[in-house]
Amino acid sequence: MLFATTLAGSLPKPDWLAETGKLWPTWRAQGAELARAKRDATLLWLKEQEDAGIDVVTDGEQSRQHFVHGFLENVAGIDFEHKVKMGIRDNRYEAMVPVVVGPLRLKGRVHETEARFARAHTKKKLKFTLPGPMTLVDTIADRHYGDKVKLAMAFAELLNQEARGLAKDGVDTIQFDEPAFNVYMDDVKKWGIAALHRAIKGLRCTTAVHICYGYGIQANLDWKETLGAEWRQYEAIFPALAKSRIDQVSLECIHSHVPPQLMALLKGKDVLVGVIDVASDKIETPAEVAATIGRALKYVPAKRLFPCTNCGMAPMQREVAIAKLRALAAGAQLARGKYGAAAKSRRGASS
Ligand code: ZN
Repeated sequence: MLFATTLAGSLPKPDWLAETGKLWPTWRAQGAELARAKRDATLLWLKEQEDAGIDVVTDGEQSRQHFVHGFLENVAGIDFEHKVKMGIRDNRYEAMVPVVVGPLRLKGRVHETEARFARAHTKKKLKFTLPGPMTLVDTIADRHYGDKVKLAMAFAELLNQEARGLAKDGVDTIQFDEPAFNVYMDDVKKWGIAALHRAIKGLRCTTAVHICYGYGIQANLDWKETLGAEWRQYEAIFPALAKSRIDQVSLECIHSHVPPQLMALLKGKDVLVGVIDVASDKIETPAEVAATIGRALKYVPAKRLFPCTNCGMAPMQREVAIAKLRALAAGAQLARGKYGAAAKSRRGASS
């Protein structure tokens, strides 16, 4: 099927699970009650995604407080008690971050419970997200390794251990979230992709990297104002990603100032095209979604184009996120009717 739909990863947490509208929400419960609420929320979102018509679903990241710290909490060698203030994403925002104080190792499996639970409750393809090594390095202070690349490779090794476990749990796609790739473009080429390769070593499932301009929060909106009329960060890194062993690249498209022709630089890769804006509560129409797919088709072959959201939807209102998921699936359906036959005849002509 052409234009199978998916989402970047996160979905809003229901108000009975955690505070809403926040990137670092406080859980409403603790212990067994919290575990039960996480399962209930995961089930709810699997059903909502299926009902909307999404093809590759996620657990909506309902079991983690934050996309980076959900992983870090299960890593030994980190001091969470004495957090330090640090500028992250090249000082775009300041955050209180934990500190690496010793050799890093996993305390055990990180996401086994929620991955197995999600797998048991949907027959759809299941995608699971992990933070990428470069983004982890950029969201933590280091007093042990003394070298960014060494620290990144140490994280990549742990990510690989967890990713292998997730593949065994029945996850179809493992996606690494690397918003830092749009900030440190030279480092992506020097060691960012090498660290990703370390993280996917030995994996036989589909692998993806998500690179975006962040959630629709104020610090990101302000940063985007400084990026000029055309955002060309992707131009610096896509040729290297095209040569990488990562299967899929998830990128921003709709309402983004990224020139769409940059997608052509990802030759040979599946492209997860952002057709849903997460920085606005305005619901896209199916026609708008189909039109965005049409624009991307000029640069991405139909069989490699997967309509997706620009980024995670964690800070949104639940009703808005549901409406956007429906628009995503309906727009992809519309695009199948509009562009499907042409794509087929092109394939016929080239074979
Ligand atoms: Zn994102």
